[in-house]
Amino acid sequence: MDCLFCKIVEGTIPSEKVFEDEFTYVFKDVNPEAPVHLLIVPKKHITSVDYLEEKDKELIGHIFLVAKNLAKEFKLNNGYRIVNNTGEDGGQSVKHLHFHLLGGRSFNWPPG
Ligand code: AMP
Repeated sequence: MDCLFCKIVEGTIPSEKVFEDEFTYVFKDVNPEAPVHLLIVPKKHITSVDYLEEKDKELIGHIFLVAKNLAKEFKLNNGYRIVNNTGEDGGQSVKHLHFHLLGGRSFNWPPG
C-alpha cells in the first residue's frame, strides 16, 4: 500500500521517532505548528476516524494514554492540544489515522 505513514512506521521513510510500542509509533511533525508537535499513529493502517471499527476501541484508548504520557515527558504541564483531522473538510492530508499532540504555547479556540 502506498501510504506515507505506513512507510514511516516500517522505517523505509525516515522520521524523528520519539516513542514506539506494540501498537503505536510517534514521531516529530516535519512542519511543526508548536514547540512540541508530535504525530501519534497506530502501526496498523486505518485510513481515518471514518474507518474505525468496534475492534479498534482499545487501540484508540491506548493512543490517548500514550498522548498523556508523552505530554508529561515533554513537560507540557500547562496544557496541550490533541487534534485529529478527518476527511477533506477536516483538513486531513495524510490518509493514515493520526493524532497531533501540540504543546509549548497556547492555542486559540475556535480553530480557524
Ligand atoms: P493532517 O493534515 O492532519 O493529515 O496532518 C499530516 C501531518 O503530517 C502534517 O502536519 C505534516 O506536516 C506531517 N507530515 C507530512 N509528511 C511528514 C513526514 N515525512 N514526516 C513528518 N511529518 C510529516
